[in-house]
Amino acid sequence: MRRINPKDFTLAKRGTSREINRQIVLTMIRAHQPVSRADLSRLMNTNRANITLLVKELLDEKLVREGSQGNQNIRGRKPTFLYINSHNGVVVAVDVRASRSFLMVTDSIGKQIGEIVSFPTKFDPDEFVSSLGWQARKALREIAGITSCDGIGIVIPGMVDRKSGIVINAPALGWKNVDLLNPLQKEFEGTEIHLENSGKACALSQVWSTQGEGTGQNDIVFVSVSDGLGVGIIINGELMRGKHNTAGEFGHVPLSIDGPPCSCGINGCWETYVSNIATLSRYFGRTTSLKQPQIMEVSQFTIEDLIARARGGDGKALAALNSTARYLGLGLASVINAIDPSDVYIGGEITEAWDLIEPEVRDAVKERTLTNELGATPIRIVPATEHPRLRGAVALVTAPAFAAPKVA
Ligand SMILES: [Zn+2]
Repeated sequence: MRRINPKDFTLAKRGTSREINRQIVLTMIRAHQPVSRADLSRLMNTNRANITLLVKELLDEKLVREGSQGNQNIRGRKPTFLYINSHNGVVVAVDVRASRSFLMVTDSIGKQIGEIVSFPTKFDPDEFVSSLGWQARKALREIAGITSCDGIGIVIPGMVDRKSGIVINAPALGWKNVDLLNPLQKEFEGTEIHLENSGKACALSQVWSTQGEGTGQNDIVFVSVSDGLGVGIIINGELMRGKHNTAGEFGHVPLSIDGPPCSCGINGCWETYVSNIATLSRYFGRTTSLKQPQIMEVSQFTIEDLIARARGGDGKALAALNSTARYLGLGLASVINAIDPSDVYIGGEITEAWDLIEPEVRDAVKERTLTNELGATPIRIVPATEHPRLRGAVALVTAPAFAAPKVA
């Protein structure tokens, strides 16, 4: 699906799909709310009657609501403002990681409700589904006072066939060809479930976010650093999936063929050098083993603790972060050489140390990129406080209503 840029689009003409025009109107209301019908017709450069008709449909379907009256216009009439109907639904977003899973409840336009909760990730798929069911219902009851929701978006640290809901390979969880969708649909009867690879979901949410500039967002790479390392690639406004949903798996491209063993079965993958577990292992002076993600010292002492120590003058902690920074940059250089994106986004707890590690990352990128232009590719940070992976999970549920379907 393609993102509609609210600052640069053309309204589909007579004869083209009505669905596209509806989605453009929805996108415009979300980007400009509160917005009047007159504003919409001006913004979209189309006549009032056209807008009135489209808005009526959206009101009938309760996708949009009318809100408080605005100031009087010159003719003395008060326009009624339109809003996306965020009271219409509640969404549950889940970020599954090897160590812990995180869960956030939002309204239908992705605004967070209540606190984020976390719980240990069960590695047995059946136990995973029932524990998620229990946690989600508990969160919904406590946070929103309800027991079911309209959609659940789940991001997985592994390759996912989004259509069939099969986790093709999630090395960190030990899942191979696990059908997660059917058991989840039984657990959450009547609820829409969306599954996606975490890196891909982050990339989707980045381009779908209306807070961005709106331009230059068509070719981006999102690198999500957590227990592992996920990469999502958007080319020409569309997510790269490949024939078997594994496109973008740079996390499992080796930096060194003699490097530490990776959960995927080979040695020296980029993520064995850059993941939070790699950084913590380096600090504790042990070999990274992504084969055992739940090492006790690692789960009790977090990357945030390590960053705090580095800031407090712990030279070993700073050295561990700087090594990660160098490896992050070296791997990024390969991604930039191969993809030539307009922007690279980095998400994950490591971004909280960006002021400490940025020079090292940029030097490594410059050192290994093929041209000066590639070496100057903007690298942008998505702060951990924005929870990009959970935002990605939310976007799986909320964004399709705003995205233009493919036009043949
Ligand atoms: Zn690997």
